Amino acid sequence: MSTAAKFPTTGRRKSYLSYIFGMAVVFASLLCAPQSGTAQTAGLMLPCRESDTACADKMRRKSLPKFRDFWRDEMARPLQQRIGPAPEELLVHLNLDNIASGIANRPRHAVLAADFLADVRAAIAELPPTILQKLGDRLVGIYFVRDLGGTAQSDLIDGGWFRRDLSWIVLDADVLSQRNANAWATWKENTPFKPNPAYALSATIETAANDNRKNAIRYILLHEIGHVLSIGEKVHPPWDRPVTTLDGFSFAQLSWQLNASKTYVSQYDHAGFADRSKVVYYFGAKLDGAKMPEIYQRLEKTNFPTLYAATNPGDDFAESFASYVHTVMQKRPWEINILANGNPIKTYRTCWDEVRCAEKRKLLEKILGIAKN
Ligand SMILES: [Zn+2]
Repeated sequence: MSTAAKFPTTGRRKSYLSYIFGMAVVFASLLCAPQSGTAQTAGLMLPCRESDTACADKMRRKSLPKFRDFWRDEMARPLQQRIGPAPEELLVHLNLDNIASGIANRPRHAVLAADFLADVRAAIAELPPTILQKLGDRLVGIYFVRDLGGTAQSDLIDGGWFRRDLSWIVLDADVLSQRNANAWATWKENTPFKPNPAYALSATIETAANDNRKNAIRYILLHEIGHVLSIGEKVHPPWDRPVTTLDGFSFAQLSWQLNASKTYVSQYDHAGFADRSKVVYYFGAKLDGAKMPEIYQRLEKTNFPTLYAATNPGDDFAESFASYVHTVMQKRPWEINILANGNPIKTYRTCWDEVRCAEKRKLLEKILGIAKN
């Protein structure tokens, strides 16, 4: 399961004309429903059959929630009032997205318990005011579903006239209500490694007194907020279009290069960190558990604050943002501990006070508008 945005890889920037066209097609499909190609899933009428990935890919780009106009009323309200169950149109979009991406889960309506919603609101309220201010007009809202197929998802919203400066955050209410902060972080940081009985890895992101569900939600939100704040900032190339160059994307240039086939490689891949490309979170571990100490030793020679940051430029920024806000701005713990046969053999901490991440920190502070000089 993913805390990462399940970023569509085939989307395209839409012009205003295509927006009008898209709206017309969606409206027409609503008028004509049910059609021979529709499917009923999770109580929703979808415009495509379950098996028709091409249709789902086409229709997800035309979903109403992908356009700014759909969110106009929501955006007029304060952020704290833009938190709740996903609207039906968004549920339809998420189902199309999963069908198009080959993900078996079918997102459906979530009923939110009052104590859960209170935790989410408290987690948002604890974010630094400078971050909340930046977020208010870029985030349409935080919405919950069940059976998302990951922990969280963010996606771009087309503002028309080439403006793409909005996003939503969707969270799986069932996944979030299950774990406290350290249990969630430990689960996540183990996902790149195949189980090996001789090795164990634990992550600590909160003190014992603060190790609760609210703080798990808070950290998960921080990562997604990093993705939202990257939109329009030129920190890395957009995630939904083919990449041709890193020119102008100063944050990505600190760690990444494009190879001959225009695929991302890190600057460290040829300097002893070849296994970086085998670091895969959530969807199928590729590294044996015995590799844990070596991977973290290699990571200490990079400017990635976390291992997840080393997976791609988008998650590099989201993880850098989350880790910086969490450890530097809010002075909370963040530590990975590795044990071999029950004995501690390695502790890894983030890098914001180390030379290796100095350039990244400086740029991050500039982007966040909190640079000291
Ligand atoms: Zn992510």
